[in-house]
Amino acid sequence: MRFTFFLTLSAFLLNPLLAQTVIRSIETDEAVVALTFDDGPHATQTPRLLEFFAAEDIRVTFFEIGRNVAAHPELARAILEAGHEIGNHSKTHPMLGNIEDIAVVRAELVETQAIIEEATGFTPVIFRAPYLSHGPALWTVLDELQLPSIGASHSGRDWEAAVTKEDIIEASVKAGAGDIILLHTWPGKTADALPEIVSQLRAKGLRFVTVSELLALAKPSE
Ligand SMILES: [Zn+2]
Repeated sequence: MRFTFFLTLSAFLLNPLLAQTVIRSIETDEAVVALTFDDGPHATQTPRLLEFFAAEDIRVTFFEIGRNVAAHPELARAILEAGHEIGNHSKTHPMLGNIEDIAVVRAELVETQAIIEEATGFTPVIFRAPYLSHGPALWTVLDELQLPSIGASHSGRDWEAAVTKEDIIEASVKAGAGDIILLHTWPGKTADALPEIVSQLRAKGLRFVTVSELLALAKPSE
């Protein structure tokens, strides 16, 4: 499983056309979709999400901020122990696309890898840019660390104050096979929306996988 994933990921990274591409979805014959939650761990919302996903027997991906993992290492461990995936979401959540100093960008990513490793023993193999903001320095560091940058095909826009639970549901359930849905850990309205999102996506015949599992199910590009 792990080995298959590694080969697929290598195929992505070794392809020069894909090397500086944000992965928003994949082509697949499998009826799979990935739910992703950014910006945790969060003291109250992470446990709430974990409880829901355990009850529903669903695995998802959390793109975690390094300084939040340092504050709540036990929650990072709980995420992995429940079978979910953790990705790197930088240490302090800056607009990385605007930072030209490679050393500054490198520290954001490398220190987060180290914080997550220290907390959990696990080294993330995927990255999501804060604000999905990319620039030349970030691409250089992603290449150094061999981390693919994960975007999304569907966004709940749940960080916006005016967006309602119903809006989040409507945007999320448009997803289909191979899609990646971007949500956040901290908004209560997102957790409120999840039962309906899960129910409607299941009604479309979709099952939930982590981002690494999704990448491993991509059809060869030839
Ligand atoms: Zn974020």
